[in-house]
Amino acid sequence: MIPYGRQDIQPQDIEAVIDVLRSDFLTQGPAVPRFETQVAEKVGARHALAVNSATSALHIACLALGLSEGDWLWTSPITFVASANCGRYCGAQVDFVDIDPHTYNLCPKALEAKLKHAEQEGRLPKVVVAVHLCGQPCDMQAIHALAQRYGFKVIEDASHAIGGKYQGEYIGNGRYSDITVFSFHPVKIITTAEGGMALTNDGGLAERMDLLRSHGVTRNPELMTQEADGPWYYQQVDLGFNYRMTELQAALGVSQLDRLDDYVARRNALAARYDDLLADLPVTTPWQHPDSYSGRHLYVIRLQHERLSMSHREVFEALREQGVGVNLHYIPVHTQPYYQTMGFQSGDFPEAERYYAEAISLPLFPTMTEGQQDEVVEALKKAVGEV
Ligand SMILES: *Cc1c(COP(=O)(O)O)cnc(C)c1O
Repeated sequence: MIPYGRQDIQPQDIEAVIDVLRSDFLTQGPAVPRFETQVAEKVGARHALAVNSATSALHIACLALGLSEGDWLWTSPITFVASANCGRYCGAQVDFVDIDPHTYNLCPKALEAKLKHAEQEGRLPKVVVAVHLCGQPCDMQAIHALAQRYGFKVIEDASHAIGGKYQGEYIGNGRYSDITVFSFHPVKIITTAEGGMALTNDGGLAERMDLLRSHGVTRNPELMTQEADGPWYYQQVDLGFNYRMTELQAALGVSQLDRLDDYVARRNALAARYDDLLADLPVTTPWQHPDSYSGRHLYVIRLQHERLSMSHREVFEALREQGVGVNLHYIPVHTQPYYQTMGFQSGDFPEAERYYAEAISLPLFPTMTEGQQDEVVEALKKAVGEV
């Protein structure tokens, strides 16, 4: 089976992890701050906080922005559930904004219309999570302008997007958002096995997230609310969690970061090759906004049902039967049983639901060969009845 995604582990990655195993620190040593500094410098952010997953990063990002009960978090329905669940962890209510039919990202026009309506009803969101689906950045300039006008905070869920660029600058520099989150799960662009990071240019937010990722406990006298008893003293000043990244993970991350630009370039080259090879098939290939240099985490095609006699499911199954590990990113979050208990229904976000009825993620990963890619294309041709 050709998988839809796969990590690339080189001998230097293995050496880097082994070096940590032989060192004094398996956690809370020098590798985590090294990884944070290198990612922050790479993407042009002032602060970076490494954690054990992007989900944890989203959680502490929401908490640092003050999201709590009675507040609203809005995001795209076409995302992994974690982009919405982070709001629920904070006791906030979650709502969705339909997608743009070209980029499949949260649509700024739909956002504006929904904000106008929400303002009249007095239920404006406190936080909007902008998800860079497949690695293609959202229209951040438009979202930022709306944030200024309506007073909400912006988190970029860039789980798919490290190494990509928006308006020629690395995603994560925070020009148009408060906090950006990366994921280092093995299917993502670079990996630490499990792992994530929150980046911000705001020192106060960085300090809050630093506390929250480690029990709300500090040894910094400046953050203590009572005087220290002695040199052994630590103080819990808030309710935090254990979301720390290990040294093993951070060392792997530092080693992987060396190859970030190569990975993204290779993913873009393979994506361009797919675009050519699929041009005559009854599928829509992923349109790219000119402001965008996508990390190309996923290559999603949409079936043109009007040109096809077989169903979405039949095409998907025919690909799997031919050893092509296709996937579907994502089932609209508002149709998940958990979110249906909050009153969401099928039909609420029509563009997202149309996307779901047509989308298939084809295999794409940096070590994929052109031969494997040709196999995928041949299998797809068979699946849609073009050979
Ligand atoms: C993978 C992913 C997450 C969660 O990442 P983890 O590191 O696995 O917690 C969140 N949002 C999106 C869009 C993702 O793809």
